[in-house]
Amino acid sequence: MIKRYLTFQKNNGIAPYIWTILCILPFYFIFQAPSTAQIVVGILLTLTFFILYRIAFISKGWLVYFWTLILIGISITATSLFSYVYFAFFLAYFLGNIKDRIAFFTLYFIHLLSTTISINYSIVMHERLFLQQLPFVVITWVSVILLPFSIHNRKERGQLEEKLEDANKRIAELVKIEERQRIARDLHDTLGQKLSLIGLKSDLARRLITKDPEQARSELKDVQQTARTALSEVRKMVSSMRGIRLKDEIERVKEMLRAAQISLVCEGEFSPANVSPFTENMLSMCLKEAVNNVVKHSGAKSCLISIGQSNGEILLAIKDDGVFKGTPGRLAGGHGLVGIKERLEFINGSLDLDTKNGTELIIKVPNVLTPRQERGIGND
Ligand code: ATP
Ligand code: MG
Repeated sequence: MIKRYLTFQKNNGIAPYIWTILCILPFYFIFQAPSTAQIVVGILLTLTFFILYRIAFISKGWLVYFWTLILIGISITATSLFSYVYFAFFLAYFLGNIKDRIAFFTLYFIHLLSTTISINYSIVMHERLFLQQLPFVVITWVSVILLPFSIHNRKERGQLEEKLEDANKRIAELVKIEERQRIARDLHDTLGQKLSLIGLKSDLARRLITKDPEQARSELKDVQQTARTALSEVRKMVSSMRGIRLKDEIERVKEMLRAAQISLVCEGEFSPANVSPFTENMLSMCLKEAVNNVVKHSGAKSCLISIGQSNGEILLAIKDDGVFKGTPGRLAGGHGLVGIKERLEFINGSLDLDTKNGTELIIKVPNVLTPRQERGIGND
């Protein structure tokens, strides 16, 4: 609960408190009115404002203009009756959320003009009030000018980021489809043709076996040869699909750390036996990202990479003696650490991040091999 509260506060800063004060503030001004009738009108006006404000947020098309103009009217009335100008803040925030450019600019100028005029008539021209409220009036007026643009730009940036993320997902999807098509093409061009040839030749051999045994034997030899070629092609294909091997990745990592002048200590066997190619590929990708981070962020002098196997589990740890630059206990900042976590979750693995002395990534993956893989058949 406390954690949730702290996260909420971190994301929103003091904004929720300001909004709460702004919601309570009209009543302070209203209760200063001389007559009960004015107080009742003020309360009704305020409640109407908040209800319409909510409705305006979910409206579309011309209704946005309609509700906004009514809200502007209420804001002007509150300014002239109770010298309460702060509804203008709410309106400035709302305008910033209008996506349509024409509606945004039209309502922005109407709001700016109406707020300026009402402030001028209701507050600036009353000397006592003006001096009392000067700093707040100036803040409100500046906010009416700047807040809509700042929110509008933030929204636009958010939308662009969302689009970019969608595009990246789409690209990843297309890459997968392309890869599947490539595999299908390869299978068709290699295995498919060879198998039809084997089919044709064995059929021919069957028919020739009594008529021309010599020719039948030669056809069967061809069948055997074709089967061998097909097998070796399949092996080649599988090994090209296998992905990155740990021993190759560790060599690249060594190069990288050497170039960054970070000394490296490696512990363990980086050609682990009995590890499925898929798991090995995953581990290689995680290792690559972890070391990228060491080079990019840590400012470390040395790095320790260790790998070990125990109780059906592979443990890979990457530790540096630099300073962790992210938020302790969180993976936010980029896509790297989150990507590692997601990849590992996919294979029921886990990622632990220790940032007390430098940064340590502890990667655990289950290494449960099928009997087929244990016999080494799956690795062919
Ligand atoms: P990306 O990987 O998407 O290009 P990134 O490297 O900033 O961007 P992550 O890999 O997710 O993102 O890392 C998140 C943040 O954690 C980093 O921005 C950095 O501040 C911090 N960080 C990660 N690894 C280390 C490290 N080894 N040393 C210091 N800080 C680190
Ligand atoms: Mg990274």
